[in-house]
Amino acid sequence: MYKTHTCGELRASHAGGTVTLAGWVHNFRTFGGVVFLVLRDRFGITQIVTNPEKFPLAATSIEGLKNEWVVQVTGMVRMRPVDQFNPKMPTGEIELEAHEVVVLNQAKALPFVVSRDDEEVDENLRLKYRYLDLRRERMKRNLILRHEVVLFMRKYLSDRGFIEVETPMMFKTTPEGARDYLVPSRIFPGQFYALPQSPQQLKQLLMVAGVERYFQIARCFRDEDSRGDRQPEFTQLDLEMSFVHRDDILEMVEGLFTSMLPEVAPNKKLLASPWPRLTYNESIERFGTDKPDLRFGMELYNVSVIFKRSEFVVFKSTLESGGIIKCIVAPGGAGYTRKQLDDLTATAKELGANGLITLALTAEGPKGSGAKFITEKEIAALSKITGAANGDLILFVADSPKIVHKVLGVLRNWFRDALKLADPNVMAFAFILDFPMFEWNEEFKKWDAAHHPFTMPRLEHLVRFETDPSTILSEAYDMVCNGYEMASGSIRIHEREIQSKVFKLLGIEEEEAQFKFGHMLEAFEFGAPPHGGIAPGIDRLVMLLADEPNIREVIAFPKNQTGRDVMADAPSYPDARQLKELHIKITE
Ligand code: ASP
Repeated sequence: MYKTHTCGELRASHAGGTVTLAGWVHNFRTFGGVVFLVLRDRFGITQIVTNPEKFPLAATSIEGLKNEWVVQVTGMVRMRPVDQFNPKMPTGEIELEAHEVVVLNQAKALPFVVSRDDEEVDENLRLKYRYLDLRRERMKRNLILRHEVVLFMRKYLSDRGFIEVETPMMFKTTPEGARDYLVPSRIFPGQFYALPQSPQQLKQLLMVAGVERYFQIARCFRDEDSRGDRQPEFTQLDLEMSFVHRDDILEMVEGLFTSMLPEVAPNKKLLASPWPRLTYNESIERFGTDKPDLRFGMELYNVSVIFKRSEFVVFKSTLESGGIIKCIVAPGGAGYTRKQLDDLTATAKELGANGLITLALTAEGPKGSGAKFITEKEIAALSKITGAANGDLILFVADSPKIVHKVLGVLRNWFRDALKLADPNVMAFAFILDFPMFEWNEEFKKWDAAHHPFTMPRLEHLVRFETDPSTILSEAYDMVCNGYEMASGSIRIHEREIQSKVFKLLGIEEEEAQFKFGHMLEAFEFGAPPHGGIAPGIDRLVMLLADEPNIREVIAFPKNQTGRDVMADAPSYPDARQLKELHIKITE
C-alpha cells in the first residue's frame, strides 16, 4: 500500500507515530509564514504542516504542489495546539508534520472546484467531468448512502430466506408501458434482443422454478423521455415471493424500509407506522393523484353540492354536463398577487382545465375571479366544509373529474413547495391499493393494462370482463412516498386461462401472445405456484434520503436531461463495418 492510514483515520492516540498518507491536495493555506496543506482521500481530510528547518526538502516540495495533485506524505503525527483544534474535522486534533513528500501524479487545472460544494456548476459540465464531480463531498456522500441502502436490502432479505438471482439483460420484450431498447443480433440477421423494462417475466419464471423468495438489485431499461425522476436505465430492488397474499408482500417491504431508515438515514422520520393504506379511488378523491404527498393537508374538497343552484355560468354548465367542482385551500394565500394567480391559472390551463376560479378571503371581503359570482351563503358553506378562514385562498376547478383531480393535484404540490408545507425530513410512506385493472386508451381505442398484463384481476370481478372492464379492480399495489411512486407490484396471474382472458381483452391475439410470451404461458402449465412481488426504485429512494432534487445526483454516471452520456458522448455512431455485420442500414 502507498499509505499506512487513511486521511480520515488519525486521532490524538496516534500522536508521536510515524505514518504515510496518500491522496489529493485538497487545499492550501499560508498562515504566519507556515504552509498548511490539507490532504484528502475518500475517507477524510488531514492537515499537513511543514518544518522547514528540520525537513527543508519536504517543505519545498509542499510549496510546489497544486490543487488535486496526487501525493504521498510521510511524517510524524503531532497534537495541534489546543486553540487550533478543529471540532468540525474528525482528524481536527492532530496534524501531520511532513518529513518526506512524493508527488505521485500532477493534475491540470480542474474545470470546476471540487474541494467545496457551495459553487453552482453547470450540470452538463459536471456530467462531462463526472469523475471529478464525484470527488466532491456531496457526491461521495450520495455514493456511500446508495451503497448502504443496497447493502441493507441485501442483508435484510437474505436474513429472511431470499436469494439474489441475476437475470439476463439481453432478453425478449417485457412490457412495462415504455418503448424497448433493442440490441441487434449479428448471428441472426434481422433479429433483436430487447433489454428488459424490468425482470418481470424472469422473476415469475423463477417462482415456477421453485425459488420462492427471490430478489435482485436489477437494472431496468425503458425508452421514454427523461425527467427529473426518470432515466433511460435505472435500478430497482426487484422481488418476488411464492405462496403469498398481498399483505405478506406489503408487510415484507414495510418491514424492510422501516428498519432501514434509522440505519441509513437517522435524520429521516417516518410519518406513520404502520404505513397508511389508501385505495386508489380515495387517493384520487382526496389528493388528486395516486402518488399523494401525505406530509401535509390541503386536501381536495368536492363542493359541487354547494353550487347546485349557482347561477355562475362556469359552475352551472359544468354541473349540467356531468362535471364536478372541487377546491383546495391555500392557507394564508389571500395575499397572492394578480400576477401569481394568472400564473397558476396558466398552469391549470396547460393541464387541460378551462380555467381556475379563485376566491381570496380578506378582511375587506372576498376577492379573486370568483368573488363576483359566489354568494355570501355559499362562502359560509365553503368555510364550513373546508375550514377556510380569513387570509386564505380558495382555488376551484370545475371540469370532468379527470381534469379536476389532475389540476388540483398538481396545484396542491405547487403550494407545498411555495408555502413550504412539507417537512423534508419526514418520509411519508404509504400503500395505494385496489387499482383498476385496465385503462382505456383513447388514442388507439383499446384497453391497456394499468399495471402490466401479468397482474391478477380480482377474482370476483372476472365476470365483468365481458360487461364492464373499466370497473374491474386488480391485485396491484403501489408504494408511495412524499409525492413519488416508489414501487409497483401485484399478485400475479398463475393460471393460464385467466392470463389468456387478460391478453384477449388487451387485444393481444393468441398468436401474438404465443410469439411474445409463449415461454411464460407454457411455464404456467408446469405447476406455477401462486405468487406476487413488488419492485421499489432505488434511485428515487436514495434521492429522497439524500435530499437531492433529481435522481441524476444519486447515480454515478447518469445520462443528462436529454438522455445523453455527455462524458463518453453516447449514443454515438458505430463504424460502417459494425453496421454491416449487424445487417443494419441507416436510412436517415
Ligand atoms: N415489474 C414491475 C415494475 O417494474 C414491478 C412488479 O410488478 O413487481 O413496475
